Amino acid sequence: MLKKLKQATLQSLKTSGISAAVHNSRWRRQRLLILAYHGISLTDEHLWNSSQFMPADVFRNRLKQLNRSNCSVLPLDEAVARLYTNDLPDRAVAITFDDGTSDFFRKAFPLLKEFGFSATLYLTTFYTHYNRPVFDLMCAYLLWRGRNQRLDLKALTHQDLKIDLRMQTEQKAALNEIKKFARAQKLSAEEKDALLASLASQLSLDYAALVEQRIMHNLTVEEVKQLAADGADIQLHTHRHRTPMNRELFLREIEDNRKSIQTMTGQRPLHFCYPSGVHDPAFLPWLQESGIVSATTCDTGFASPTSNALLLPRILDNPQLSSIEFESWLTGISAALPRRRKKEKAA
Ligand SMILES: [Zn+2]
Repeated sequence: MLKKLKQATLQSLKTSGISAAVHNSRWRRQRLLILAYHGISLTDEHLWNSSQFMPADVFRNRLKQLNRSNCSVLPLDEAVARLYTNDLPDRAVAITFDDGTSDFFRKAFPLLKEFGFSATLYLTTFYTHYNRPVFDLMCAYLLWRGRNQRLDLKALTHQDLKIDLRMQTEQKAALNEIKKFARAQKLSAEEKDALLASLASQLSLDYAALVEQRIMHNLTVEEVKQLAADGADIQLHTHRHRTPMNRELFLREIEDNRKSIQTMTGQRPLHFCYPSGVHDPAFLPWLQESGIVSATTCDTGFASPTSNALLLPRILDNPQLSSIEFESWLTGISAALPRRRKKEKAA
């Protein structure tokens, strides 16, 4: 109901010309819209998790809309520099992707190239080097794929527990049990991969076929090299997708990630994105120490010249956002409308 009301409001603002006025305003010219994406589905991933995966045709429509709205899509580095010198072009936008799932190479980047848009990929590197399915993601995906079944945890976690996967809450409960088990047993990456294979087999799913399709895989080293050579901007997202509260461990995450990216791309990455959008005041001096120029969050909003460069907000685009809602972010009219002050769910 609220969504319908919002859409109607946006439509009437558009019809009355107010949207266009905001779009061309000085207010909007001083602001940078940083769009955030995760994956573009290889198959049905958006049906499993629509906050992280978008079908390719929806993404293509977004790029068309960016074109039609005469937005200036800038490389992130240039956009951030010009934000702080008050030198942004009209309707400035930067496009970012988090994580670096394999679909970026096959789905997102070819579309971005077709439209001539630059984009930044915040790459988490552990699963680029160990190129098997990302454990947490694949585990959740398999449980969703087996959603019509009952799962006996005995063979997986040695628990006397049967879980009915038809309910989403039960899928979550099973995921928690399996993740808890992997942590408690301190399973290696190879052991976690074997656990995924065994979960798939319990649910009569063809693990080898999913691996072959590269579902829930990260980009390979070769793909990252090719993307960088082709103009993709590869930046930091930690090596293991985590931000420890301990300074040494935090700095190590950045350094491991940076070394890996620099070896693959030949460029020293200086921009950072907080994994899962988690940020803490303690991180800011550590990021400065690491020579980080900008850091993006998953907090919703426009970046302005008064924004802290290490806490830049973004808009998490997702397939549930209607095209008029998306447009309202491009124009800036959305910033004037009330919205729930909640953090978007991110990965
Ligand atoms: Zn992430």
